[in-house]
Amino acid sequence: MKAGRAIVVGAGLAGLSAAVRLTEAGVTVRVIEAAAQAGGRCRSYHDPQIGLTIDNGNHLVLAGNDAVRRFRERVGADEPLSGPDHADFPFVDLTRDERWTVRINDGTVPWWVLSRNRRVPGTELRDYLALGKLLSGHGEETVSDRIHATGTLWSRVLDPVLLAILNTPAAKGSAKLTAAVMRESLLRGGRASLPRIAHPSLAAAFIDPALGWLASQGASVTLGRRLRGIAVDGNRVAALDWGQDPEAVQEDEAIVLAVPPTVAATLLPGLTVPDAFHAIVNAHFAVAPPADAPPMLGVLGGTAQWLFAFPDRISVTVSAADGLVDMERDALAQRFWDDIQSAYRSSAPMPRWQIVKEKRATFSATPEQDARRPGARTAFRNLFLAGDWTQTGLPATIEGAIRSGETAARRVIERVGA
Ligand SMILES: Cc1cc2nc3c(=O)[nH]c(=O)nc-3n(C[C@H](O)[C@H](O)[C@H](O)COP(=O)(O)OP(=O)(O)OC[C@H]3O[C@@H](n4cnc5c(N)ncnc54)[C@H](O)[C@@H]3O)c2cc1C
Repeated sequence: MKAGRAIVVGAGLAGLSAAVRLTEAGVTVRVIEAAAQAGGRCRSYHDPQIGLTIDNGNHLVLAGNDAVRRFRERVGADEPLSGPDHADFPFVDLTRDERWTVRINDGTVPWWVLSRNRRVPGTELRDYLALGKLLSGHGEETVSDRIHATGTLWSRVLDPVLLAILNTPAAKGSAKLTAAVMRESLLRGGRASLPRIAHPSLAAAFIDPALGWLASQGASVTLGRRLRGIAVDGNRVAALDWGQDPEAVQEDEAIVLAVPPTVAATLLPGLTVPDAFHAIVNAHFAVAPPADAPPMLGVLGGTAQWLFAFPDRISVTVSAADGLVDMERDALAQRFWDDIQSAYRSSAPMPRWQIVKEKRATFSATPEQDARRPGARTAFRNLFLAGDWTQTGLPATIEGAIRSGETAARRVIERVGA
């Protein structure tokens, strides 16, 4: 017999994760999403301009992301995530035409820092020992409060990697969030730090299997329906306004609000949420990469920051790309293509391309913004929050979004007694 009912508002990964956990627990679930497709900031679509299915942005997860693994197992996602066999991170510095690969060894004892062949050229063991200070950041501290944001190790690895993880200028990033990521990856060794990329698409790796599983379990997913208002009565949500007649919320129903922070704050005046964001810009070029191109290449000294080699395209990612979002698209594409040519040492005319700009890709992972993240519980006993911007203890990531959904589902289950 089903126990309780839940309405999940928002079919991004947080909402889908909550819906999956709740359905698994026997709760009758309805997911309602404003957009015409599920996935939110983690979505794929066919782009007629380049004639390919592309993702809104290249998304990297780590092999040690436990919630990602749980979620994919639960929904039977059988498209394996792709990536290298070892935690090798190749880089190119375009201004000096220098190349190197950081090679983190598989096990938990980090002996790679003892090996010159595995470290960043020009760095010493003592540079890495200082990184221990990044494993225990406090709430109000930035990365540059913990370590010197200067030197070769900083500029060649830490700055670009933390920028990508936090989507925030690395020195200003929260030391606490950085420590959380490091504890769950580097500290658990190379196996947990393996970069993993959705292949062939985010939809295939995450969204479609979740939608399929939910449908098979009798949970409904409605697209194209926007929540416009929440009416409260004392300490409970009494009705939801979808733009027509308000829908009364029944006593055995709980709501998981899994919408972006700006939307949540509009629906729930008085809710404190992160209010500073950074852009991510992605570009996709419809051409097969050179045969020897690594799956992922860090780029220094260009406009591109990371290159991703897919069988049918080369994709570029730029984090904290606020300075690029207003730039003219053709000029931006040309800059990226120039970087690709230099990085791959190739020479070819620019193929068809597409640029995807996500202006508010994630909240700014600074200590100030982290302090504004609410937990799953709200002032209303039948309303719970989920989203990468809630207090997950992680930066805005797929892992955090999925965990936030699990947390919200746990709170609902406690309430409805499923
Ligand atoms: C370009 C880009 C690159 C990224 N790269 C990485 C990466 O490499 N690794 C990583 O781990 N993370 C990455 N992220 C972050 C990751 O995508 C997010 O953390 C995650 O997708 C957030 O999921 P969410 O469910 O919390 O939010 P969202 O995906 O924003 O979902 C919220 C949903 O609510 C819906 N909605 C909004 N208003 C309403 C309403 N009123 N009624 C009903 N529905 C509504 C929205 O349409 C949306 O579907 C990236 C993000 C972007 C944008």
